[in-house]
Amino acid sequence: MTNPSTPAIRFDQVSRYFGEVKAVDHVDLEIRDGEFFSMLGPSGSGKTTCLRMIAGFDKPTSGHIHLYGQDVSNLPPYERDVNTVFQDYALFPHMNVGDNIAYGLMIRKVPKSERTKRVNEMLELVKLSGYAGRKPSQLSGGQRQRVALARALINHPKVLLLDEPLGALDLKLRQQMQVELKSIQKRVGITFIFVTHDQEEALTMSDRIAVFNEGKIEQVGTPAEIYERPASTFVAGFVGTSNLIVGELAKRITGSDQTFSVRPEKIHLRAVGDKIDGNMISVDGVVRDVVYLGLYTRYLVQIDEGNDLVVIEQNLKTTSMDVLSVRGQKVRLQWHKDHISRVGG
Ligand code: ATP
Repeated sequence: MTNPSTPAIRFDQVSRYFGEVKAVDHVDLEIRDGEFFSMLGPSGSGKTTCLRMIAGFDKPTSGHIHLYGQDVSNLPPYERDVNTVFQDYALFPHMNVGDNIAYGLMIRKVPKSERTKRVNEMLELVKLSGYAGRKPSQLSGGQRQRVALARALINHPKVLLLDEPLGALDLKLRQQMQVELKSIQKRVGITFIFVTHDQEEALTMSDRIAVFNEGKIEQVGTPAEIYERPASTFVAGFVGTSNLIVGELAKRITGSDQTFSVRPEKIHLRAVGDKIDGNMISVDGVVRDVVYLGLYTRYLVQIDEGNDLVVIEQNLKTTSMDVLSVRGQKVRLQWHKDHISRVGG
C-alpha cells in the first residue's frame, strides 16, 4: 500500500535538453494521488516532454522522477504503472472495438471470460455498450477517442497520461467530452495528467493546473487561483484575457508602481460623473473600440493615465445598436478593490 500523502508524481529538478534547446529546465512538481492535473502552456513550452518522461518514452538529462515514491527516472515504459492516450487515438484498424480494448489484457494472457467481463465494464464506462463488434473506421472521432480511453484504462494504471486527447474533435464534441472525461476520472479515481494548450479546457476540467513557459513552470494552482491570482505577467496573459495595470495608473490606484491585473469581466462601464463608491476603484477614459459578440460586448477603453483596458459586459438589456453607440464616448470604469491583484503577489 502506498501512503496516501505520497504524491503520484514528483519531479525533482528535472531537466531535458536537446542540444541547445532547454525543453524542460529544472522543474520541481508534485501531482497528488487521484488528481485531475493539467499541464497548460503554448506550443513548445515543454508539456509533452514532461509527459513523455513520466511515461518513460524519454529520460531526463538531469534530475529525478518519482512515481508513488519510487524513482522511475531510468525504468523502461513497460515497468511503469502508467498508460497514455494520444491525440491520434492509435487504435488498431484491423481489430474490432472489443479486441482493441482487450489488447492489454491479451498481452498479459488474462483468460477470455475475464477479458470479456472487463471489456464490457469499460464499454459501459465510456458509454459504448453494444459497439464491441465495430471496426474503428465505423466510429466517429469522439467514439474512437472513447475506445482509446477504455483501452488505456482497462489495466487500471495508477496514472493516466493524456496528450491533447480532444485536439482533433470539433468544439461542441470537445466540450461534451471534457465533461465526460472529468466524470470518468471521478468514477475510476485514477490520477489523470492532461496536456493541453487550451486554457478554457484546463480551467473547466482540472483540480490543479501547471502553467508552462519555455521549459519552466510559472505557476501551479487551482483554476480559480491561476485565473484570479496570476503569479506572473505570462500567466495573466496566457490564461484568459487580463488587463495589466502599470505606471502612473498603478501608482494612483495602489500607491505602488508594480504591475497589477484586473480581469475584463470584473470592470463595470458607467457614465462619467457616476458617484464613486468607497469600495470601488474608479478610472475615466474614452471608448476606442466596441465589439458586439451577441452574449456579451467587448470594449477597449483608453484610460486618461495612459493604459488601455478591456471591459466585457453581458448584453442583459442592451442591443448591438446601444453598445455600438458608445464608441468614442467618455466613460467611467469601476471595479471592486478585491478584484485587482498584484502580479506575482
Ligand atoms: P506542443 O503543444 O506543440 O506539443 P509542448 O509544450 O508539448 O508543445 P514539447 O513538445 O515538450 O512542447 O517541446 C519543447 C521544446 O523541445 C520545443 O522547442 C521542441 O522543439 C523541443 N523538442 C522536443 N522534442 C525534441 C526532440 N526529440 N529533438 C529536439 N528538440 C525537441
